[in-house]
Amino acid sequence: MTATLTELQKKQIAQAEELLFSGPEKEGFAKELYFGRFRAESVMPFPEVTGETKRQGDEAIARVKQFCRDHIDPVKIDREAMIPDSVIRGLGEIGVLGMTVSKEHGGQGLSQFNYCRVMEVIGAHCASTAVFVNAHHSIGLRALELFGTPEQQKTWMKPMTTGEKIAAFALTEPEAGSDASNVRTTATPTEDGKAFLLNGEKRWITNGGIAQVLTVMARTPDASDPDGKITAFLVTPDMPGFEVVEKRMEKTGIRGTATGRLRFTNVRVPRENILGPIGKGLRVALTVLDFGRTTFGASCTGAAKFCLERMVHRANNRRQFGKSLGEFELVKRKIAEAAADTFAMESATYHTAALIDSGAEDYMIETAMLKVFSSDMLWRICNDALQIWGGAGFFTDQPFERIMRDSRLNLIGEGANDVLRCFVAMVGMRNLKKEGDELKKTPWKMYKMVNITGPSIPIKHEHVRFHARQLSKQIGAFSWACKMAGLKYQEGILDQQAVQARLGDIATELFMASCVYSRVTSLLVNGTLPESVKMHDVATGQLYLRLAFQRNAARFADLKVNFDKDWADVADKWLGHNFPNWVLTPDD
Ligand SMILES: Cc1cc2nc3c(=O)[nH]c(=O)nc-3n(C[C@H](O)[C@H](O)[C@H](O)COP(=O)(O)OP(=O)(O)OC[C@H]3O[C@@H](n4cnc5c(N)ncnc54)[C@H](O)[C@@H]3O)c2cc1C
Repeated sequence: MTATLTELQKKQIAQAEELLFSGPEKEGFAKELYFGRFRAESVMPFPEVTGETKRQGDEAIARVKQFCRDHIDPVKIDREAMIPDSVIRGLGEIGVLGMTVSKEHGGQGLSQFNYCRVMEVIGAHCASTAVFVNAHHSIGLRALELFGTPEQQKTWMKPMTTGEKIAAFALTEPEAGSDASNVRTTATPTEDGKAFLLNGEKRWITNGGIAQVLTVMARTPDASDPDGKITAFLVTPDMPGFEVVEKRMEKTGIRGTATGRLRFTNVRVPRENILGPIGKGLRVALTVLDFGRTTFGASCTGAAKFCLERMVHRANNRRQFGKSLGEFELVKRKIAEAAADTFAMESATYHTAALIDSGAEDYMIETAMLKVFSSDMLWRICNDALQIWGGAGFFTDQPFERIMRDSRLNLIGEGANDVLRCFVAMVGMRNLKKEGDELKKTPWKMYKMVNITGPSIPIKHEHVRFHARQLSKQIGAFSWACKMAGLKYQEGILDQQAVQARLGDIATELFMASCVYSRVTSLLVNGTLPESVKMHDVATGQLYLRLAFQRNAARFADLKVNFDKDWADVADKWLGHNFPNWVLTPDD
């Protein structure tokens, strides 16, 4: 089943190759899963913070908890659709706005691991504040930290870490949403070559209308490409021609953040304000999004923990039919599943953060997996929490409707989840091509006879033997499924999104399961926690592993037998439908 690629697809592939695979490429743990390998040393033992690093993190967490309690009122922020300046100033004063920035540049010099621990607290308390911090620190300031010249860093970073200057990251435009490479904003060099003139529009930019430093993506001329290439620029609102068209767009959730619409009319940006290499703006964007997605994972984990505590509280305190809600099996299930998936979110967040701290070069699919999994799970968990609270959960004196509105953004922002599912599948499978070419030499009828073996997974405790076997079996089956899909569809796999999404989701669950497996093993083998606490976590982690294997089994089955074609046929019929005499439509 081969397909001919369109010119547009060929161009997109070339762009993706340059963007994703032209830098240093050392296979991370997740990419190895596609080859059927479990690189134990990358994921085991489970990372732990100890000593001075732990002390620093504990102190930061204590400060942030106190600040949240005393100064951040999530209900008021949501109702008034505004994070007060005093909160922003306060976050600066306690170091949150420059957590991972080096001390030399005015930051706290915390590890990504500790930063994630802090973001978990903020995410549990107020999603608007978490997204504000994420936009400022994880993507705005981080771009400067990673790609800025020493002069740029000296000029901008200190006031950004204190909150005196707020950062924003401006990529999205009317024609460039999920397709970020379609940026239309242009940056034309001035005749003297000393500056660029920016023209275009950006929308939905967090902090866009309140920021003093914006990383703006614009298209610059390029000798090798008539469409030009995307370059990142540092823009300040005092530059003539910079206009905030809308400072705070009304929105569903995270209402406290200022989401803005911006226009640039001949904004003269000096050449010194180019951030990173010219023409490599998308590389800047993708790199900082890795950090943004990791802290997304942490914020979602915090919010999920908050919901879990509320579920337990209600289940223990509300009685119906002469019993507490917690005595009903279906309520128990919701609680246990929330606990298990939250454990997985937390485990993968800390694994990914530690990976970044270790100086690893390649974690782009880990961060995408973490973002997709944790946002999907939080969405279900807050829905279940509201359900356990019943009618009471529907009223605004309880936090659930706000958490639902807030959590909805996570499935769209920093890469829509469906787009990332396909990204995870295709990036992982891309490197398998060579092995697939080898397989092509095997006659079809021999395929069934191939013995699919899984990788060897270290078993350090009897309690994880079963899980190790399951994990290994599924990693082996997954690698085989990827090779078969590559062989079957060849380049036509690009048009098989349902297949990609299943493979992406299997890979994500295997990554999560690997992190959980590692953590459960560490707890069993050398945990310093009291036995009761330890076994509580072990049981929760083991439940997650069983759930993950069950969910993946369904996905494997779907790969074999599905009705993708019927779905597509029915969708096409509806897409061509005219809706005569339908319910009232926006055009009526
Ligand atoms: C509150 C908020 C804050 C934001 N903050 C920022 C910011 O600070 N900076 C910034 O640059 N951007 C920001 N964004 C923009 C955000 O990153 C984009 O919304 C996101 O990338 C998706 O783009 P889009 O909304 O245009 O969706 P579209 O590209 O129009 O896609 C809509 C839907 O179509 C589907 N879809 C699209 N493409 C595919 C595909 N290839 N395969 C399958 N399905 C597909 C997905 O389900 C997707 O959700 C923000 C957005 C919001 C809502």
